[in-house]
Amino acid sequence: MVRMVLLLSTALFMLLSFLPSKKMAPAADLILFNGRIYTGNKEAPFAEAMAIQQNKIIFTGSSAAVLKMKTVATKQIDLKGKLVVPGFNDAHIHFLSGSLAMQTADLNACKTPEEAVNTVLAFANKHPEASWVTGSGWQYTAFPGGKPTRQLLDAVIKDRPVYIRAYDGHSAWVNSKALELAGITRETAFTGFGSIVKDADGEPTGMLSESAMQLVSKFLPPVTREEKLKAIEEGMRYAASLGITSVQNANGSIEELELYDELLRKGKLTLRYAAAFSTGTKTNDADINTFTALKNKYAGNILLRADAVKFMLDGVIESHTAVMMEPYSDAGVNGKTANGEFAWPLPLYRKLTAAFDKAGFRMYTHAIGDRSVHEALNAYERAQQQNKSTGSRHRIEHIEQCKPADVTRFQQFHVLPSMQPIHADPATVAVWVQAVGEQRLPFSFGWQSMLQQKATLVFGSDWPACIDLNPLHGLHIAVNRQTPDGYPAGGWIPQQRISLQEALDAYTYGGAYSSFEEKIKGKLLPGYLADFAVLSQNIFETDPARIAATKVLLTVMNGRVVYEAAGGNLNTK
Ligand SMILES: [Zn+2]
Repeated sequence: MVRMVLLLSTALFMLLSFLPSKKMAPAADLILFNGRIYTGNKEAPFAEAMAIQQNKIIFTGSSAAVLKMKTVATKQIDLKGKLVVPGFNDAHIHFLSGSLAMQTADLNACKTPEEAVNTVLAFANKHPEASWVTGSGWQYTAFPGGKPTRQLLDAVIKDRPVYIRAYDGHSAWVNSKALELAGITRETAFTGFGSIVKDADGEPTGMLSESAMQLVSKFLPPVTREEKLKAIEEGMRYAASLGITSVQNANGSIEELELYDELLRKGKLTLRYAAAFSTGTKTNDADINTFTALKNKYAGNILLRADAVKFMLDGVIESHTAVMMEPYSDAGVNGKTANGEFAWPLPLYRKLTAAFDKAGFRMYTHAIGDRSVHEALNAYERAQQQNKSTGSRHRIEHIEQCKPADVTRFQQFHVLPSMQPIHADPATVAVWVQAVGEQRLPFSFGWQSMLQQKATLVFGSDWPACIDLNPLHGLHIAVNRQTPDGYPAGGWIPQQRISLQEALDAYTYGGAYSSFEEKIKGKLLPGYLADFAVLSQNIFETDPARIAATKVLLTVMNGRVVYEAAGGNLNTK
């Protein structure tokens, strides 16, 4: 009887497969089967298999169904149970600076002044041809009081100027030769945003914060266009190895946009790039018109777009340049300010945000202190009321401190919290904690608070202003609030932890939503762009403490393999 049924069903199947039918499976260029595909669809979050035609997903479902879509030309990947996630969308990044920083000394891993100095020295020795020794990534926590000194560098490099940016890009550490070249002495006064840090005797210490960094950085040798293009290509290879398929740059110029335009024309873009134009107190109507023409030029382009602008409303907590409602806990220590200072006159910031809202731009405002976040929300609210615009999806960047009453306003005014879990890596927050103080800690990096108030969370890295570009490190922090080695036990402010699914959605769907692309990116469903990464382990099932150990085995962007790990054993055929 069983045999009879089998024969009958086989005959029926053969008959059906020869019949022309509208339901006949379309041919796929690439199929992935026998795995766990995280679709992002709330009703059916996982599928076994997926089929790609050109640059789009045409099917997600069972392995049996997908295998029927194979032709002789179809590439196939047996996932052997591996997890596939939508390509990561790093929604806050400084891609050119990050790519250029890859060419200089990297101090991100340095935990002591000795390690930092040795890293700088090793780089200097390796590059005797460099007229300046440059680098980035030093941590405030690696130095007493969060302040590196020129003497540390002078002890090893006297003859060449040294310029090393802090990991957050908001401070610089220089040697005496660099100060000398820039003409900075005890007499030099600086009245702009930031400061030349001086010791008790009034001598410059070798640390510069915010705009005062430019007093020295303007003497750095210029980087040629060719060097920039080469650096970006290397940066893209690195991003692809981490599963990143989209980035949203958080600053930029027209010149920078043209670099990506060239890569686009040459077919070399291996990630989707969204540019943002930097604004300043001199930004005027003519700039808005120029930016608008570029926004229109790239409208509808799935690889390159230019529809956002960036405002820097304050600085950072560590150097007391972020603006707080109440004074810093360590105010007055070493001449540190009480509440921080705005980088903009507020009336001008409000006027420009209203103008850009009217011109149809998405806005990103860097606001780290709770007072700045409050003012950014006020400005967006006012702009939208004035222009009768809704759903503009403006964003506030970082939000390291936010008053509970303001958390509720994000959803109310359709403002997106754009946050970087990697900034809360407990290995890097000691100086930050002193400045914020115990009382305010529960409201720090408040991802859980944002989700509870139904805000759409958008994640990124802020690379190179962070210790790691790797989204899996970011996901690890979001879920555990612990370093990859498990510090501190129990997690840092554990009530702000979020689930892996929430964190992953913020790193994929959230970014797509932010750029109005949530119907084509950030999920793995039919009709969506074929942007995805295959991971070495199923992070939904492994111990959360092991998330950071996950590797990317394969990255596909726009239907094209842009990274394949050596020994990944996926047998791409
Ligand atoms: Zn940034």
